[in-house]
Amino acid sequence: MARYAGPACRLCRREGTKLFLKGTRCLTEKCAIERRPYPPGQHGQAMSRRRKSSEYQKQLREKQKVKRIYGLTEKQFRNIFDRVRLWPGMTGENLLIALETRLDNVVHRMGFAASRKAARQLVRHRHIEVNGRTVDIPSYVVRPNDTVQVSEKSRELVIVRQSLDALARAPPVSWLTVDTQKAVGKLTELPTRDAIPVAAQEQLIVELYSK
Ligand code: SF4
Repeated sequence: MARYAGPACRLCRREGTKLFLKGTRCLTEKCAIERRPYPPGQHGQAMSRRRKSSEYQKQLREKQKVKRIYGLTEKQFRNIFDRVRLWPGMTGENLLIALETRLDNVVHRMGFAASRKAARQLVRHRHIEVNGRTVDIPSYVVRPNDTVQVSEKSRELVIVRQSLDALARAPPVSWLTVDTQKAVGKLTELPTRDAIPVAAQEQLIVELYSK
């Protein structure tokens, strides 16, 4: 299925929670979910009044929520899940680790782009280097001790500078270090679940895909 190209706020309203899909703009703009706290569409308000949802619906919504946070298609998300279920340890936690170590996510978390969508664009347009070499694949897996940076010619791009200024006000996650002046960062270690600031019940996704 093609990637969703409609309004980002619609997805938050569908999931009933803030997904921060516009990145730092979500902190400054009026949030649609606060103004219209019910699902989008003609029957949205009626849907929100419905009683208890089934176990399957809860699992499905959790999967959709996480998939939308990271901006992936169903096929991409499922492929990552199928890969991590072979890893030792907790599949749910491993799923989040795999999502967090994608290059587009790391670029966003390092503050080089205001959202994952903008980060993907920076990567595709060849503005990002990993260990000194240009990488234009958003799904590239960043490993511990890899250095990720904005290429020298792109460091003064307005979107990069604006995003880094915002980062200076809110430092990145504990498993990344960033030099905002040089627009270069490092993944120091794989994140643990506690260090991934995503409010998700990943076990529900494992249950859904294990049916
Ligand atoms: Fe979601 Fe609010 Fe950001 Fe829109 S402004 S994307 S509703 S968090």
